[in-house]
Amino acid sequence: MQEKNVIEQIAKKSGKTGDEIKALVENKKKKFSGLLTDSGASFMVAKDLGIEVGMDSVKRINIAALKNGMQNVDLLVRVMQIFSPKEFEKNGKRGMLCNLIVADSTGETRLTVWNDDVEKIAKQEVKRGSVILAHNCYAKEFNGRVQTSIAYKGSFEVEPDTMFTDLPEAKSKNVKAGELKKGMNDVNIEARVIRIFKVTEFDKNGKKGKVMNFLIGDKTGTAKATAWNDLVEEAQKLVEGEAVSIEGAYTKQGLKDVELHLGWQARIEKIEGKELPTAKEMRKKTALVKKIIDLKQGDSDVLLEGKIVAVNRGALFYNVCPKCGGKVQKLDEGIVCDKCGEVKEPDIRPVISVRVDDDSAQIDVVAYGKEAEKIIGLGNEELKKQRSERGSESMIEELQELGGTKITVIGRVKHNNYSEQTEFVAGVVELE
Ligand SMILES: [Zn+2]
Repeated sequence: MQEKNVIEQIAKKSGKTGDEIKALVENKKKKFSGLLTDSGASFMVAKDLGIEVGMDSVKRINIAALKNGMQNVDLLVRVMQIFSPKEFEKNGKRGMLCNLIVADSTGETRLTVWNDDVEKIAKQEVKRGSVILAHNCYAKEFNGRVQTSIAYKGSFEVEPDTMFTDLPEAKSKNVKAGELKKGMNDVNIEARVIRIFKVTEFDKNGKKGKVMNFLIGDKTGTAKATAWNDLVEEAQKLVEGEAVSIEGAYTKQGLKDVELHLGWQARIEKIEGKELPTAKEMRKKTALVKKIIDLKQGDSDVLLEGKIVAVNRGALFYNVCPKCGGKVQKLDEGIVCDKCGEVKEPDIRPVISVRVDDDSAQIDVVAYGKEAEKIIGLGNEELKKQRSERGSESMIEELQELGGTKITVIGRVKHNNYSEQTEFVAGVVELE
């Protein structure tokens, strides 16, 4: 925007066209072997022509020229990488910050942006590859490298209307799940979340850490992803079945396959991902097909196919925490959620147990929540209504008509300590 002003000013005052001035500026830059910024070159051209122009643009400098202690400078840069935004507290005030790696033709630097500018990133107005014009930055040396921050009153413009595009391209490309190899850095991938596993805490050299695994996939395959520490918070927001873009990850050889790791440089963003296969399609491909008779304790991600022979009598509903949706326990003192503490009024979700036969043997398949709704054929609200109108028993009676229905289930084998029976917990259910 600023060069345009400068060029317009020079053109107006010299009587030449904008293109002519642009050519002169480019020549000037060539002459100085790329050491001049666009605005610097414009000013030299103006000087050559004996024209005076506004001094706004002199604030802009190239990354290579940044020095410790510089203030109030502007940077016209391309966003090469975006890290996960972080919350911070300073003098009792809460705020957000986000670190970017930005580049121009002379080099690369870390740029920290704050609050409203972080919002622009969250809204995806700024992405990897965006050009930004950061106003009012300051430079500080940290570990021997100059890093930049936008000052309190500064801000950045996205895709400013500049006439010069000698900025480097954002270098990393998206890879597919099937293309992951060990030892890759700065990996970007668009994939669907197929499964989510529990967070584990660990202790390493006296420091506490967190780790969480999840399974992702696209048309070309699936991969185990591991989020570490800060990124676990982001990963915990994931929902099975949704599409995400993961940036800045790295790969490592796992026990079986190459795994994707999300360290502090990584970022997770939700995307639409229409072209990605559904989680169910991918789970069907990766699951191990087994006969009931061959099931073993500890089997997971197994696919069974059979017929429903009966709907088992039981509660049809279970209590969950209204805050986190997790299971609650009934103790003498009241109802308690492991995560949230005391629960005044629990919410309910459906659960159903059906006897399935696949000609080799029979097993009880237990489905919860959405998967239970699929078997029952009603949504949660309608289920709650019917439950209060006529009770679970009458509902189960009616559900016996499911006998003979073909069912495909992906899930895991579990020993039910209560009934002392082996059962199959459904992750995905499909009825025919
Ligand atoms: Zn809870």
